[in-house]
Formats: sequence, structure tokens, C-alpha cells
Amino acid sequence: MNEIFTGNFTQQEPISDEAIEAAVNVMRSGRLHRYNVGEGEDGEVALLEQEFAAYMGSKYCLAVSSGGYAIATALRALGIAPGEPVLTNAFTLAPVPGAIASTGGVPVFVGVTEDLVIDLPDLEAKIKATGSRILLLSHMRGHICDMDDLMMLCNALEVQVIEDCAHTMGARWNGILSGRHGVMAAYSTQTYKHLNSGEGGLLISDDPDLMAKATMLSGSYMLFERHLAAPGPEYFTETKYQTPNISGRMDHLRAAILRVQLRDLDQQCARWNERYKVVEDGLADTTGLALINRPEAEAYVASSFQFLLLDWSEEAIDDVVARCMKRGVELKWFGGAEPAGFTSRYDSWRYAPSEAMPGSDRVLKGILDLRLPLTFSPADCAQIARIIRAEVAAVYQGPQG
Ligand SMILES: *Cc1c(COP(=O)(O)O)cnc(C)c1O
Repeated sequence: MNEIFTGNFTQQEPISDEAIEAAVNVMRSGRLHRYNVGEGEDGEVALLEQEFAAYMGSKYCLAVSSGGYAIATALRALGIAPGEPVLTNAFTLAPVPGAIASTGGVPVFVGVTEDLVIDLPDLEAKIKATGSRILLLSHMRGHICDMDDLMMLCNALEVQVIEDCAHTMGARWNGILSGRHGVMAAYSTQTYKHLNSGEGGLLISDDPDLMAKATMLSGSYMLFERHLAAPGPEYFTETKYQTPNISGRMDHLRAAILRVQLRDLDQQCARWNERYKVVEDGLADTTGLALINRPEAEAYVASSFQFLLLDWSEEAIDDVVARCMKRGVELKWFGGAEPAGFTSRYDSWRYAPSEAMPGSDRVLKGILDLRLPLTFSPADCAQIARIIRAEVAAVYQGPQG
């Protein structure tokens, strides 16, 4: 009899008792708004910002209402103009082009390689073709491109890099934390990311002028001096008059549970990677299935797993997805004709038309994606890999199969 997996791919771990207690204390106080603090209190949000900046080694941090909001705030702080082209990844999640569109910018999609990272030659060509001065670089599903090469290219062509680190909180390239290469970096604390407050976002930077703008944009009123990880008041003298308030603050309730989780982030990252490794080992040398190359310089944090069924027919991939589903293994396919669930791709975002990218289309058509929540044990992950391996083998019919 075929084994069947019974775990739930969207089940995260519970919020810890310690975090629940911190949240209950905030609720008992009645002071949930970030600027509603008692005498002598810093408040959970300001403390979270201080602690996240310390973790990242950044000068400044601003906590906001979502990752998408953090990205849009970074674009606004950079002074994006209506109709301005912003380069971004063709392989990313809908809130990324959405954040660009929300600021009046126009997404320009850059291709994806078989390593699931941004295609640097295509990036160079599109910088030159559009004259764009901003790259919103999405480390989609935690895959980090060669950041040394990317920054060299962008610095040479005077392109500023905003990093979307929704999937790389705690990851590194060549020893440097993801989010510390670009001028600003955005993180998400939505339930499916590395910290879980339901919704939430964090923005970091070392640039005081940009962060003063971001602070005002987020809805700080004239209370910016209550921040513990914002630039000094001298950076607000003109900015406070010039910057619109586009409310998107974080509240004490969410900050309270995030502060407790942040202390365990590195340990949680190690647990995610342990699970990733089990799936990777279990799928090694499966005929017809390509694993994603992870360069030595990339210290990734895996909360999900991707593999490629490159050049497979749509029917055959559909068949693999259906067979795995029957055995309890939920694969998401980026190549389906219609966007479904969380998966959509650049040609689904019709508000931002793009030229066809055949090389990227070939990769996107073959990407299969599965979540690896920490509620799965390493043994669960081994079972998932066995099931995928068996079903891929059952469907595979050789090249062009
Ligand atoms: C989740 C996510 C975001 C934005 O997160 P929200 O907090 O949901 O707005 C941005 N980029 C990527 C790649 C994501 O997966």
C-alpha cells in the first residue's frame, strides 16, 4: 500500500506561552497604539525596532503594518515619481509588483535563472533600456543571487537597490545578512514568513534621510522622537513638513509577540534548514527532477522547498501534482495557465504588461513549490520526499515526457 502523508502544509507552530503572556499584558494595559505609552515606557513597537536593528546590524528600523507596506514606503522614501520604471523580479509574489503600482511606479520585470534568482545579464540590459534608477530585488523563496556581482553592477550603473527580504530574514550572502546590501530592506511578519504576527512588516536602512521620510510616511505624526531606532530630530526639521502621513504603523500587540519570537529566530532558522536538507537529500538523483543549486556563499533560510520539472509537458506536471495531492503532499505549481492561491507570475499581472521572456517562461513553467512549516518533523519531510520521488518516477517518460 502507498504511504499517505497526513500533515497540514499551512499549519505553523503555535504562538509560545511567553509571547501570549506579552500580548495579554498589552491588552490589559489598553494601550495598543504605538504612541500610546505610559510614563517612562518605551513601548513594544519602539523596543522591537531597536532589537531588530541590533539583530540586523542596521542603524535604523521602522515597524509597519505589512511587508508590502514596507516596500511601498521604501519606494516613496526614494522619491518615486508617477510613471517611473522600477525593476523587479519576474519570479516573485504579487505584493511586490503591487507595491510598485501602489506608488504610481511601473514594474519592469527581470528574468529568472534555473537557480531561481534574478538573471544578471537581463538586469543589465533592462537597466540600460529603461534608464531605471531603482531595483526592487525580491529574494523570492529565499534564493539569493550573487550579491557581490549584483551590487557591483547596480553601483556601476547608479541603480539603488531595495531588498525584499520576505523569505530571507536571517539568511546571509558571503557572511553578510540579507538586507544589508541594498540602501533599504523590507521584511514581512505575515503568518507564512519567519516571524509570525499575522500581518506586519519591518524596514531597515543606514540612511538617515530615507528613514526620517519613511518614519513620517508611516504615520508618526510629530511623535518621531519616541522612536528608539529612528534618525535624530535634526533629520526631521524639513521632512516633517514635506512628508505626507500614509498611516501604516505597527501596534504594540503584534510587536509584543514578535519581540519574543525574534529571540529564537536563529534557532528556528536552523530547524527550517534541517527540514530542507532532509527533503533535498530525499529527492537527490531523481530522474527528470532538478534540484535548485545552492551556492556555497549562500547561507539560506528555508521555510519552503522548490524543485524543477524542466521541459515537462503541462499534462505530465498536472499529473504529478494530482498524484502527490492524493497522497497528502500539496505541491504548488507556478506554471499553471491560471494563477491560483498564492502563485501567480509576471504575465498574470496584466496591469503591468511585459515583453515575453522565453527563458524565464521555461523555468517558471517547471517550478514546483512546497511549504515546510516547523510543525513537520524531519521524519515527515523524509516521507514527503519519498512520495514526490515515487510519483515523479511514475509519471516521467524521458526527455520531452
Ligand atoms: C509575503 C511577501 C511579501 C509581502 O508581505 P506582506 O506582509 O504579505 O505584505 C513580499 N514579498 C514576498 C516575496 C513575499 O512572499
